[in-house]
Amino acid sequence: MAVKIDQKIKGYSVISAEDKAKAAVKADAVAREVAEAELPNANVIQMHERIERPEILIGSTYKIKSPLFEHALYVTINDIVLNAGSEHEQRRPFEIFINSKNMDHFQWIVALTRIMSAVFRKGGDVTFLVDEMKAVFDPKGGYFKAGGVYMPSLVAELGAIVEDHLKSIGLMHDPDMSDAQRALIAEKRAAYASLSSKKNSDVTPGDLFPSPKVKDDAREEDVEVTGDGGVAFPPSASMCHKCSAKAVIIMDGCATCLNCGYSKCG
Ligand SMILES: [Zn+2]
Repeated sequence: MAVKIDQKIKGYSVISAEDKAKAAVKADAVAREVAEAELPNANVIQMHERIERPEILIGSTYKIKSPLFEHALYVTINDIVLNAGSEHEQRRPFEIFINSKNMDHFQWIVALTRIMSAVFRKGGDVTFLVDEMKAVFDPKGGYFKAGGVYMPSLVAELGAIVEDHLKSIGLMHDPDMSDAQRALIAEKRAAYASLSSKKNSDVTPGDLFPSPKVKDDAREEDVEVTGDGGVAFPPSASMCHKCSAKAVIIMDGCATCLNCGYSKCG
């Protein structure tokens, strides 16, 4: 092959047999690396609908107690373990059942759980179910579940349970909170805690002329209520539109959420 040289030649060398061997070894190594990266995936079992149900599945049962239902609902989600013992081991949801003494809505519940189980077994990304279900609103207005979290419907609470379950088996993850945001929330919680303790210590027993107490009664109920994540929010807190936790308090004349750090005043 003829090569036209436009510039002046500054130096040259002839490709020796040694250089050729080196290049070949290098190319070999690259090819092997690529092959190694691809090979293990070829044997990894992914979830698909032809995977047979093993005799035994592991699972969790969650309880839903809604004021809209006389009896509690028990939600069981069973998982299958794929590639057990290998580095690609993963738990995937396989089926869901709901049990209750309440038979009023049973045909819909059975239909919903059968379809959800079918979606689980199809494989792929099943986390969309969570968003779909959590977006269902009950025309009756929903309810507050224990811990003060607003549930727009029973279906939404079911979605929240599926979300918790998928998080527990590592299929879903909490959006990472930045360190700055975590520090801000901690700071706000500390500020609120010191604020309430100061108001309580304002009045010393035996004081003949106590200074008039401004709205001190409202603070009386500062007993701790344990929220979902074991965090305590004052019972007087109102609902946060951002995180749906009953954790918004008024601090320095500004609505502030003690759960997610949302503040009207920025
Ligand atoms: Zn919030």
